[in-house]
Amino acid sequence: MREKIVAGNWKMNCDLAEMEELLAGLKNKAETIPSDVSLMVAPSFTNLYPAFQSTKETPITVVAQNMHQSENGAFTGEVSPSMLKSVGVETVILGHSERRAIFNETDELLAEKVNTALAHGMKVIFCFGEELKDRKEDKHFDVVKSQLQNGLFHIEDSAWSNIVLAYEPVWAIGTGETASPEQAQEMHAEIRKMLASAFSQDIADKVSILYGGSVKPANAKEIFAKEDVDGGLIGGASLKADDFLAIANSY
Ligand code: 13P
Repeated sequence: MREKIVAGNWKMNCDLAEMEELLAGLKNKAETIPSDVSLMVAPSFTNLYPAFQSTKETPITVVAQNMHQSENGAFTGEVSPSMLKSVGVETVILGHSERRAIFNETDELLAEKVNTALAHGMKVIFCFGEELKDRKEDKHFDVVKSQLQNGLFHIEDSAWSNIVLAYEPVWAIGTGETASPEQAQEMHAEIRKMLASAFSQDIADKVSILYGGSVKPANAKEIFAKEDVDGGLIGGASLKADDFLAIANSY
């Protein structure tokens, strides 16, 4: 049985008061969510500690959107894994397409970040996905394979229990256009094949693979119903408590 996860990536949204309001809405009804679905939220760095404090007695897990690959040092504006852990954060999203495209994060840098996170015993939600031109040129499987091989597939077999994959086709992020449930299933099944051949069938069967890209209450059910889809990484729709809960209740 793979872990089912519905995670909200709040990106650069919500000041402290707005986040407290959003969290209050989630906490109110968090117990309505199926007990086998893990609910996660990823606030901005400044909101991590208050979010952790306010969700302590709830089933909600607070995760970070990014972190630096070094332990500490002269890296103005950056946040280290120990800093995250010191405020209760044990999981970090790495490789989001916005980090790759806007902040020039390469596969090589992501591989370093993965190593640092794992060395600190943190869990990683590793994001990847093709651009529209890749899909149009029928290169989407190759692009995803290379992102995985270069950014993640160097890890030890034993590290896979700390990894969650998040397939987020760039053309579906924030565009309102969703990959069809069939497209998501096809890619997720392909990823499991890549895992089975690079590692083992056991690892391929156990890793949770989330889909991300314009998931909303209206389409979550049919996406989550697919065999190899183990949940979602939700952007825009996770900023409204009722929508986010409706998505989590779509299982
Ligand atoms: P949207 O749900 O807004 O398309 O964003 C998806 C995403 O980037 C989650 O990480």
